Amino acid sequence: MPTLEFRIDATRPATRKIWVVATYSGLDQAAVEFFMPTWTPGSYLLREYSRHVSRVEAVAGDNQRPLSCRKTSKNRFVITTDGANTIEVRYRVYAHELSVRTAHVDSSHAYWNHACVLLWPVNQRQLPARITVDYPAEWSLTCSLESEAATAKPADAAAITLLASDLDHALDAPVLVGTTQQLEWEVHGVPHAIVLDGLEAVAPPTTLVSDLERIVKQAAAVFGDSLPYQRYVFLALFAGEGYGGLEHRDSTTLLMPRTSLTTESGYQDFLALAAHELFHAWNVKRMRPVEFWEYDYEQENYTRLLWLMEGWTAYYDDLLLVRAGLTTQAEYLATMAKNVQNMRAAPGRFELSLEESSFDAWIRLYRPDENTRNSSQNYYGNGAVAAMCLDLLIRRTTNGARSLDDVLQSLYQTTFAQGRGYEVADVHRVIAEIAGSEVVDKLLDLVTGPLDPKIDDLLSDVGIKVHSREANKPFLGVGFRAGTTVLASVSDGSPADTCGLAPDDELLAITNLRVKAGSWQTTFGAVAQVGKAVELLVARRGVLQSVLATPTAGPGKVKLTVNEAASESQRAAGTAWMGAGRSS
Ligand SMILES: [Zn+2]
Repeated sequence: MPTLEFRIDATRPATRKIWVVATYSGLDQAAVEFFMPTWTPGSYLLREYSRHVSRVEAVAGDNQRPLSCRKTSKNRFVITTDGANTIEVRYRVYAHELSVRTAHVDSSHAYWNHACVLLWPVNQRQLPARITVDYPAEWSLTCSLESEAATAKPADAAAITLLASDLDHALDAPVLVGTTQQLEWEVHGVPHAIVLDGLEAVAPPTTLVSDLERIVKQAAAVFGDSLPYQRYVFLALFAGEGYGGLEHRDSTTLLMPRTSLTTESGYQDFLALAAHELFHAWNVKRMRPVEFWEYDYEQENYTRLLWLMEGWTAYYDDLLLVRAGLTTQAEYLATMAKNVQNMRAAPGRFELSLEESSFDAWIRLYRPDENTRNSSQNYYGNGAVAAMCLDLLIRRTTNGARSLDDVLQSLYQTTFAQGRGYEVADVHRVIAEIAGSEVVDKLLDLVTGPLDPKIDDLLSDVGIKVHSREANKPFLGVGFRAGTTVLASVSDGSPADTCGLAPDDELLAITNLRVKAGSWQTTFGAVAQVGKAVELLVARRGVLQSVLATPTAGPGKVKLTVNEAASESQRAAGTAWMGAGRSS
């Protein structure tokens, strides 16, 4: 059996580059082909990591004689072995993109996903790999892979060897090296850690460990009070700006502004992001659709199930926080209200179903443009609303005896725990077993057609009232580019659409009153009336023109509150659903 080793030199981080040597031994073939992934699971866009790879060359392992190395596609190289049974492939990776799914190396830290760094032999995904990393001696390294000490080269650096059981294992374990702080705790006897990078002078909240511990317990409770991993680590990157999370089997990377930890809402966002990625340790990283059972790392992997993978996870991230007593019921309801409001405001929910929007993630959600909100759905926010509706339907049908928690637990036990991915038929089977086939029909309504659920009716079961506020305010239906009055988007069917306004139009005046970015809202509010035409002065492709628009009543703002007039059993159902929440 061939063996595969990588030596990653990250000892000169200020160069923004890392140097890699892949040593492939036990060969008897005339040529070997290597590939680099084009994307990372969890982030559905081809990112073409190989565009940062350069100076690829190969030598024979025994006498270092040069071997022919030929690029055969954007991300593949063929090396002629010339009789050598060990070959070394050397290359350089430029690493200066700070996101959870890429590689970023500078004088302050080094972070990478192995998808951006490893050239792997084609058709050898089962091969184990030893990955030795050399890094500055004053830094420490964090990765979920098992490790052993290694001899550093150069001698004044530190080195660790990471052990990956196969390609998937290697690609699913990002590496963080730097002057980090590590905090640890256990849940159900399983060790957890958070490694904080880039906080500078900002102190982590004193309750950070206990808060994360409560989140882990709530997530485990959904799946029967058990944890699916031997150890879990949150890699938390902090920067001046940026936001994101990426799930892995035994770890996650979170990216947030460092100052977010110092405000109540910023810290809640951080905890919700942590809860979201942790929940993926079950939903997506283990329990996953059959089409994701074995990833193809070189091209788009299509699924119609992101409304479950991301939508249900987005539903549970906020729900875990309120169940853990980290947010109040009112705060939780405000978050759900925002999801409902965003759903109602985007016309795309009538154009492309949640299933279709999942399938098109690669060309729509991950490549948004001026028309995205008109033409497709966000399967995170809308998926969370659909998940809430499904949960409330299950609770209604079973008189509160069962919930979406039971569906998740059963789907996990009957698919992933049996060593297989799930089909949509498995989801339907589990829901039918738990709540009956009529709930399956209602799920189909939510995810296969226009999304227009009866939120008010469902939430009344759990003692929640839906209020529409400011619904009679005049509405035009435009979005602006930041800091300008240039239209970034026009909502389909809105007054702006009807009167012919288009993205890139610049609004200069309304009823002869000059408007700028800072004054648009107040000026529009002062002169616009529902049903009464207003004159807009517009610059379109450099030509001034006048347009008459007739504002309509807007979609308004959604507010959810606990209904004081609800019955005792409705209030009890509400508490069974979201918990009592933080008391103040
Ligand atoms: Zn997610």
